[in-house]
Amino acid sequence: MRAPASLETKVLVASRNAKKLEEMRRILAEQMTAVEVVGLDDVAPFEEPVEDQPTFEGNALLKARAGVAATGLPTLADDSGLCVDALNGMPGVLSARWSGPPKSDERNNELLLAQLHDVPDERRTAHFVCAVAVVHPDGREIVVEGRMDGHVVREVRGTGGFGYDVLFVAADRPGVTTAELSREDKDAISHRGKALREVAPLVAQLLSASS
Ligand code: IMP
Repeated sequence: MRAPASLETKVLVASRNAKKLEEMRRILAEQMTAVEVVGLDDVAPFEEPVEDQPTFEGNALLKARAGVAATGLPTLADDSGLCVDALNGMPGVLSARWSGPPKSDERNNELLLAQLHDVPDERRTAHFVCAVAVVHPDGREIVVEGRMDGHVVREVRGTGGFGYDVLFVAADRPGVTTAELSREDKDAISHRGKALREVAPLVAQLLSASS
C-alpha cells in the first residue's frame, strides 16, 4: 500500500474568489487532511490566463496549467457556470461576465431575469456545471465534472452563496433557492461539491504516487 501524501505536500487552488476558495478548502480538507491547500494570494503573483475556451473543461485546464507553470506546485482549478435550457445553454462559460464588464452578480441576475421574463415556469429548467482540473508538475492531468439540476425562479431570494444562487432552485431541494441553503447543504448537492468529492481522492493518489 502506498503511503498517504506527506505533510509537506502543497496544492495550489488557482482561484481568487474567496467564497469558491473557502468551499474548495472545506471539501478538500475532508478528504486530504495531510495536504496544505494554498490559494493564489499565498503565492508570488503571476499573469493569469484569459478564460477564452468554449468549454468548462478547457478553461479549468488552462488555469491549472498556468498555476503549475508559474509555481511548480500541483494545481487545481475549476471553471463553472449556469446553463439555461431556454437560452440554449447560455450563459454557460460566460456566466461570470454575462452582463459585461465590470463583473457584477447583481447585474447578471437582472439580465437573466429579463431574458427569461416571458418564459413559462415549465421551461425555466437549468443546470450548474463545474469542471475541476488538476495538473501535476510531471505532466499528469485529471479533469472531472459535476452537475446540479434545477430551475430559475422569477425573483431573487436568499442571502447565502454567490452568483446566480439567489435565482436557482435545485431539483434536490425544492421550494428554496440555493442562496437559502446552509453551506453544508449546498456542498452536499452542488456541482462543485460533487466534482471536488470525486477529484479529492484522485488528487491524494496523484500526490502519494509522486512522493
Ligand atoms: P468562474 O469563476 O469562471 O468559474 O465563473 C463562475 C460563474 O458562474 C460565477 O461568477 C457565477 O456567476 C456562476 N456560478 C458558478 N457556480 C455557481 C454557484 O455555485 N452558485 C451561483 N453561481 C455560480
